[in-house]
Amino acid sequence: MSVNKNLQDLRLRLKPGVRLVAVSKTMPVNMLREAYEAGQRHFGENKVQEIIRKQPEMPADVQWHFIGHLQTNKVKFITPFVQLIESVDSLKLLKEINRQAAHNNRIINCLLQFYIADEETKFGLDEAEAQQLLETLRAEKLNQVAIVGVMGMASFTDNREQIRGEFRRLKAIFDWLKSEWFPADDRFKEISMGMSGDFDIAMEEGATNVRIGSGIFGLRV
Ligand SMILES: *Cc1c(COP(=O)(O)O)cnc(C)c1O
Repeated sequence: MSVNKNLQDLRLRLKPGVRLVAVSKTMPVNMLREAYEAGQRHFGENKVQEIIRKQPEMPADVQWHFIGHLQTNKVKFITPFVQLIESVDSLKLLKEINRQAAHNNRIINCLLQFYIADEETKFGLDEAEAQQLLETLRAEKLNQVAIVGVMGMASFTDNREQIRGEFRRLKAIFDWLKSEWFPADDRFKEISMGMSGDFDIAMEEGATNVRIGSGIFGLRV
């Protein structure tokens, strides 16, 4: 099994227009380089320490996605280079990203993470919290961040109909936000959902961005 072969097989299964993010958490940089050599440019990491260690060791055109829970006091370490923060789950976090983006003279793309699983452990907003966040944003504009879509993780289960239902819910949330809050904003178009075990379902339900780790790099230890 090789990273190169896995990527080739995966690309054949991607729907046109769906972006593949290689989730390289816990993997050594030589494996990320293998994926890079095979043409992969979008990489996802879920820990600040790890992404800031790997970033300088990879070519400058890598597009880094931050996909894990992000503490406000660590935002400053990733804002110089991160391409997309997929896991925004509070106004406080968004404000800090805005502040640090301004320091770096950048506009940073963000996804709002929604809680769609029936598990206690996952992070994310619900509809009411998102509504509140966006109402506050309308009052005090944050010019250094762009909300470009939504992200969610389905439950860890073998029940594919349950997973489908959860993805469908995220798509409905996206449609609601698009029509109520972002009708004229072309940047708001991303639905990040689907991992190695369920990205096929996610694409059927409208994913534009899938996040795949073990399906590329093998199982994490
Ligand atoms: C680890 C992780 C993935 C990838 O999981 P795999 O099952 O290895 O494909 C996707 N999204 C997030 C948020 C993750 O933490």
